[in-house]
Amino acid sequence: MMICGSCGMRMDGAAVLACQTRMYDVAQAGHVPVISAMGNLPIVKDLVVDMNPFWEKFKSVDPYLQPGYAEPPDGKEYRIGQQRMNVIHKEALCINCGCCVSECNAMEADPLFTGPQALAKAMRFVGDPRDGNKLARLEKLNGEHGIWECTRCYFCNERCPKGVDPRDAIAKLGAESMHEGIERDMGAKHAKWFVVSAKTTGWLRETELVPKTQGIVSAIKQTRFAIDLARKGKVPPPFPPHVAKDVKESRRLHDLTTERGPQGYMGIVQGERALARLAHGHTGEETLEEIYARPGAFHRPFIADEVPAGADAGMGSLTQADTTPGKEPTKKPEGGA
Ligand code: SF4
Ligand code: SF4
Repeated sequence: MMICGSCGMRMDGAAVLACQTRMYDVAQAGHVPVISAMGNLPIVKDLVVDMNPFWEKFKSVDPYLQPGYAEPPDGKEYRIGQQRMNVIHKEALCINCGCCVSECNAMEADPLFTGPQALAKAMRFVGDPRDGNKLARLEKLNGEHGIWECTRCYFCNERCPKGVDPRDAIAKLGAESMHEGIERDMGAKHAKWFVVSAKTTGWLRETELVPKTQGIVSAIKQTRFAIDLARKGKVPPPFPPHVAKDVKESRRLHDLTTERGPQGYMGIVQGERALARLAHGHTGEETLEEIYARPGAFHRPFIADEVPAGADAGMGSLTQADTTPGKEPTKKPEGGA
């Protein structure tokens, strides 16, 4: 069912939920069937790993709401529009299975790195409009072993069985930190320089990275290293700067995102939504009705406003048969079970 997150293990060398992935299929694909314990966690015995380091990191991000209000505006409850909650929808899907942690490159290099699961959980609270501790959370996450230690290998996105996409959550935390002016880390400085670099030449000019982000003194200290790199053909000469043929495209993109783009994590959420639409085959020309009418499309989700007057508006109502794909409805329109 992919619900409890207890059966994480490696099959064929990569972390999966054993309830979801069949070894039969791995063997059928011609691979030698190998099962082993998850990575980046101490092995207790056979497939059993010690999850304590995992939970310690989980606890380190204070995984609970810290309300920033004495009481809700109406004195009863704090209501939030679905749109605001959509921002953290993916992060909220995490089942704490550890598959992402198992394959994290940064954790392999630094076991103290907070890690993809805890950081995705942190984003779940940073993005929650009810939480009153956003700035303090971001400050802490920008510290040692925090968000900027991620190597952006994307293995966590690849392994997560629930579509949480922890790397995207980390990107949201970075963008929100910079939006809030928390940019002391070298990672943030690099990100800023890359924006300038892409806008001016259409390239990521790594040769200028050290002087622009660490200063001239640090650049001079690293001259010898730079010369060695240049000798081996690892870096292009800094002058004249190489300008991409279609640099205008890059500049237009920069101007467009600056003028219209939402700030902080909202910029990344916007990108996620566009990608999700493309993944569902949205061409921009079809209506929603046409998309849901495609053969094999998912049932259209329940929309409260569309329920006819007098009809049962709950799940399993006349307008939304309570079905499992490929099965008969469990609740029939006549009311039979
Ligand atoms: S993208 Fe970052 S957090 Fe995710 S697995 Fe790679 S190093 Fe770890
Ligand atoms: S982010 Fe995904 S892979 Fe990582 S613990 Fe949560 S559900 Fe598992």
